[in-house]
Amino acid sequence: MGTTYHRRQFLHHAVFAVPSMIAMDAMAAQLYKDKGAGVNQDKKLGIALLGLGKYSEEQLAPALAETQHCKLTGIITGSPEKIKKWQQKYDIPEKNIYNYENFDSIKDNPDIDIVYVVVPNALHAQYTIMAANAGKHVICEKPMATSVADCQAMIAACKKAGKMLSIGYRLHFEPHHMAFMDFGKKKKFGKLNKITAVDSQEMEKGAWRLDRERSGGGPLMDLGIYCVQAAIYSAGTNPISVTAKEGEKTDLDRFQEVEQSIEFQLEFPNNVVANCQTSYADSGNLLRVDAEKGFYELQPAYAYDGIKGKTSQGDMGLKNVNQQALQMDDFARCILNKTQTRVPGDMGLRDVKILMAIYEAAKTGKKVNLDL
Ligand code: NAD
Repeated sequence: MGTTYHRRQFLHHAVFAVPSMIAMDAMAAQLYKDKGAGVNQDKKLGIALLGLGKYSEEQLAPALAETQHCKLTGIITGSPEKIKKWQQKYDIPEKNIYNYENFDSIKDNPDIDIVYVVVPNALHAQYTIMAANAGKHVICEKPMATSVADCQAMIAACKKAGKMLSIGYRLHFEPHHMAFMDFGKKKKFGKLNKITAVDSQEMEKGAWRLDRERSGGGPLMDLGIYCVQAAIYSAGTNPISVTAKEGEKTDLDRFQEVEQSIEFQLEFPNNVVANCQTSYADSGNLLRVDAEKGFYELQPAYAYDGIKGKTSQGDMGLKNVNQQALQMDDFARCILNKTQTRVPGDMGLRDVKILMAIYEAAKTGKKVNLDL
């Protein structure tokens, strides 16, 4: 689940504010300048959404209408009652509608170039592998899978099929987060001292996210992964070790199978530390970096919309964008230009390794060294 201060559906266009006190970082500027560069402007790749739940319905399908290089051409669903509505709303022909059983035959369908896997976490691996075997490129939602072995199998299947795999890390295409990546890289505020990341949100009883078999774990898998990601790209390097502590369960009814909350600390080279916190029984949405010459902060930090950024010098002056549209367009451009995606399967695998290490650290109470 993304985070959500606001799960609003209206879409913003990818424009930046008039030049602010903080010059837009080169990488972010390049992303927009290059939008479409090197590819046939008329070419649109067909995407089939696999799983028609909340994220597909409220975010991805509307975002697809905002893309330049993608088109919603198919759906794969286990819920026949949803088909008519989707067909009518998005003009999807009968021949591009699949269920989980006949989905293999998608291999013969030239309308579909990419399968976007948007089902509960534990199902990501099997459908990513099926899509790759059917000769399709794949975008898989986060977390990539519920085990390291599954991530490795997904990467291997895509490699064998000669197809590209990317993870739905939408914030890599978001200007505030891109600025954070750049600040860290260029040491704009001097040496980093401390990173703080919080992503917490109430989870209702009965949700599959509370069922370990389908989710692979609690808020860490769903929300804490944003803290892990943000800490890494703020630090500009991978962590070297982790310590963690599971929070007390105050609601045993809801949290029978997964953690209610967890705090963890990622240690980076040069004594940079990220203090992270995630919970399904609280709310919080923050990314902050304290550095030698000042601080920079996002709050809310991980939302689809309404991200607000400030630094010790003032407002960041960046506008919100349609993250998912930019993410999908970037992947389409990578396929068309045969270039590497910035959010590849290897990144998803790295993050799942870290999530597993956090659980191990919480269980043992010991520091776990990371070899990434
Ligand atoms: P959801 O519960 O709203 O939808 C899940 C879909 O999967 C439903 O259509 C459901 O019918 C289908 N499904 C198939 N098999 C199922 C099973 N065994 N149990 C339950 N549902 C099953 O969930 P969602 O919020 O759309 O999340 C789907 C995936 O997308 C998750 O992996 C989640 O982490 C990810 N996600 C990512 C973001 C993001 O910001 N990148 C945001 C939300 C969700």
